[in-house]
Amino acid sequence: MTAHTEQNHFENALARLRRIGTTTGISAEVIDELSRPMAILEATLRVRMDDGSTRHFPAYRCRYNDALGPTKGGIRFHPGVDAYEVTALALWMTLKCAVVEIPYGGGKGGVTLDPKELSHLELERLSRQYIRAMADFIGPDTDIPAPDVNTNARIMGWMADEYETIKRTKAPAVITGKPIILGGSQGRDEATGRGAFIVIQKLAEKKSLKPKQTTVAVQGFGNAGSYTARLLADEGYKVVAVSDSKGGIYRKDGFDIESVYREKQDSRELKGVYCRDSVCELIDHDTISNEELLELDVDILVPAALGGVITEGNAAKIKAGNIVEVANGPILSEVDDELAGRGVTVVPDILANAGGVTVSYFEWAQNRQGYSWTLESVRARLQATLTTAFDAVWKIAEEETLPLRDAAYARALRRIGETIETRGTKKYFNGKS
Ligand code: NAD
Repeated sequence: MTAHTEQNHFENALARLRRIGTTTGISAEVIDELSRPMAILEATLRVRMDDGSTRHFPAYRCRYNDALGPTKGGIRFHPGVDAYEVTALALWMTLKCAVVEIPYGGGKGGVTLDPKELSHLELERLSRQYIRAMADFIGPDTDIPAPDVNTNARIMGWMADEYETIKRTKAPAVITGKPIILGGSQGRDEATGRGAFIVIQKLAEKKSLKPKQTTVAVQGFGNAGSYTARLLADEGYKVVAVSDSKGGIYRKDGFDIESVYREKQDSRELKGVYCRDSVCELIDHDTISNEELLELDVDILVPAALGGVITEGNAAKIKAGNIVEVANGPILSEVDDELAGRGVTVVPDILANAGGVTVSYFEWAQNRQGYSWTLESVRARLQATLTTAFDAVWKIAEEETLPLRDAAYARALRRIGETIETRGTKKYFNGKS
């Protein structure tokens, strides 16, 4: 799916940064500072397979910028992972934390592999090996990993355990997205989807969309996509299509998403079903490809799988009036202007999927306090954080006549810029300020 590989990921991210930097009047010094990562660690993970053989996996961790606090970002296990993708994702984390005003910089990590090829024991050995390679690069006050594509709470638990074993101390705040019993937060599993839901509700309010008359298509039915779809369906939105890596399902009148979710949990397959008690029955629906899902005539399109899915190749065929980027980087920068020109509203990833890192921050704060918050408290704080960020971005967009992405970047870049200017710029050191 990711047509754009290697350095294109990062070049694409930089092209957008520079374009928006210019249109929103961000100083050249700030853009220059943000045009390269602070540090990247590349390692080879040597892992013993169950049959006794050894395999080697490329692994990365990027600490992009820590002007606003320790770097923060997930770890992705995927065949498409490379240094450029990790770096682009780390840049976006820097902007994301700034836009929702949490005290972090941006980081990201990844391992190049297809985790489906590994047994549970092999996956555990690989996860622990990752931490052995990165233990001196990460830490509760320096760089804090979390889950991303194909990593989950169990893997975060293994990683936190390995870190604590190496450091011979308890340090739960080194990693977020852990199982609750190991110091995880209530509400972290649903956080990205709930954040997206909060943002979509705000968008619907601004655009006077009524849930029951609003159709939604969601690409990707993993952690982020499935929670987004379930919360939307629960609120009455008509979720007409969902997909996973094998393809999608479509039904004009919408799906009972809770049934689809249950079936996927049980059989690992995405099927158009309706369940009553323990019995699930297939209902009439069409199967569609992931490409077709993106081109559906829906009110809200939610790409929630991988990056680079809306490109020059298909942008003209996108019919949705609103796109909410739950995945990181689903739209390539080269089609930003085309979509804006056609009046498509894009809620950018750095705002739409910020629920995950926000509750990760809550988890880190709880670990450092040695005190657990209730689910209600986590949800209320998430609601407040994202509502404030959305309203602020919307205001910038209105006042400065900018697309939402540019407005979100402007908010983030102005905050980061302030930290850079506070430390002194050329103007200051030249005695001209
Ligand atoms: P996940 O591994 O739980 O789910 C990924 C989903 O995408 C799965 O349903 C998978 O089948 C599907 N998928 C994989 N390849 C696909 C393809 N070629 N076409 C269509 N679907 C495909 O991952 P996730 O955590 O839900 O992450 C999804 C996206 O959301 C990523 O871009 C990630 O960076 C972003 N995100 C996740 C979080 C989080 O907290 N989980 C936070 C912010 C952003």
